[in-house]
Amino acid sequence: MRELINPATGLPCAEIPDTPVLGVAAAVQAARAAFEEWSRTTPAERARLLLRLADLVEADAEELTRLEVEETGKPAAVFRDGELPFAVDNLRFFAGAARSLDGSGAGVFSPGYTSVLLRRPVGVVGSIAPWNFPFVMAVWKVGPAVAAGNAVVIKPAPQTPRTTLRLAELFAAAGAPEGLVQAVTGGAEVGQALVTDPGVDMVSVTGSTETGRAVMTGAAATLKRVHLELGGKAPALVFEDADLAETARGVAMGATYNTGQDCTAATRVYVAREIHAEAVEALRATLAEITVGDPWDPATDIGPLISAAHRDRVHGFVSRAEGRVLHGGAPIDGPGFFYPPTLVTEVAQDSEIVQGELFGPVLVCLPFDGEDEAVRLANDTRYGLASSVWSRDVARAMRVAHRLDVGVTWVNDHLPIASEAPHGGVKGSGFGKDMSQEAVQEYSVTRHLMVKHAAPVERDSFRPA
Ligand code: NAD
Repeated sequence: MRELINPATGLPCAEIPDTPVLGVAAAVQAARAAFEEWSRTTPAERARLLLRLADLVEADAEELTRLEVEETGKPAAVFRDGELPFAVDNLRFFAGAARSLDGSGAGVFSPGYTSVLLRRPVGVVGSIAPWNFPFVMAVWKVGPAVAAGNAVVIKPAPQTPRTTLRLAELFAAAGAPEGLVQAVTGGAEVGQALVTDPGVDMVSVTGSTETGRAVMTGAAATLKRVHLELGGKAPALVFEDADLAETARGVAMGATYNTGQDCTAATRVYVAREIHAEAVEALRATLAEITVGDPWDPATDIGPLISAAHRDRVHGFVSRAEGRVLHGGAPIDGPGFFYPPTLVTEVAQDSEIVQGELFGPVLVCLPFDGEDEAVRLANDTRYGLASSVWSRDVARAMRVAHRLDVGVTWVNDHLPIASEAPHGGVKGSGFGKDMSQEAVQEYSVTRHLMVKHAAPVERDSFRPA
């Protein structure tokens, strides 16, 4: 049995058994059987299942909120009024996307032949998810895969399994065939059982860059397709013409949302030198207004970190930083794993706190001189997921955005996402896109059907036409 800990109290909230390795193999077998049937459904049938599921998720909001808040400590209102309705919107989007996966036909590639390009599902998808947004991540993994006609076995993070188990139950209640969506529980060992199972055709993982590497290595033996959404260390570039009050609010929110446990969090703030001191003060004042506390209190902005070990890890980065801590910087006493918004300056670009993904509400604020240096510092990381540019000059914002090696750049904001827009990174942040039509395509393969329609001809050899 694995004990689940409520990070807001430090106390156990439930016990869940890990799925034995043989249980993973059985789930994969059941998924293969379900795939045979599901892969033959029409897009309209898949859409109907996802639309029914979206309604059931909406109706189950209270229970899903209770489970998610108990395991993550995130503010109940943030989940119930933000993340959950967003996940419902994702599901409704995937339902529509299922019906607009395009194949195309043409008779012009080779005279006398009609080529038809078909989109087919990949097969059984093994999905592995992180603990920071358990329910939304499960929806991002399972929704597009099912929309494209695949069966899925999903493994949530060991700390946060219950909303994913619930999602699998809701799929069944919505009418999914037995075995189509199953959840298995456990840690890296159970994850590797999925990754190496020969009955799994594709592995989709959201997690750290190290986990992405381990998954890719494990998947190599059976040459599985991999989809990797990995870590991030997003820069926010603040130019001298930015609206400072608006920027401080946006960057502070971008850095601390979900207690900074967000792969797109604004963690490296680079500010034009002429306004650096002023921006640091504006950021410090804004961070001081953030309320850290009980996830069930409507006044709470951010909850605890996920675990005591993770809080120690975050604090380790801060305590080793050779710079100035201008706000926060020490764990908050009491039950639960709380850590305050923390602002650090005067650290070296190559230092651990600037380069490493610490996954907490900690931001560093450093100066730059001119556009070229801003771009160089922003790109100077192994990650390439998210970024933002803050300026009133649209031409400059566009110019700078084009030079950033990342999956997304926001201008005068940081974090907003939409079901229609692809989410994913480059470099050490992985490859593959979640959300959008692209995600549905990722879970399908193109197949070429070539039909000869010219009259038969006499041939004098076996050369191809
Ligand atoms: P993690 O890498 O420790 O774990 C992620 C999942 O992978 C868990 O389910 C875990 O049990 C499993 N896992 C770990 N090692 C494995 C292995 N060797 N083989 C198979 N499975 C394995 O990540 P986490 O701590 O749960 O989540 C935080 C990380 O996720 C951060 O690095 C964050 O940036 C990343 N993340 C990325 C995105 C994105 O879209 N790019 C979104 C959210 C989180």
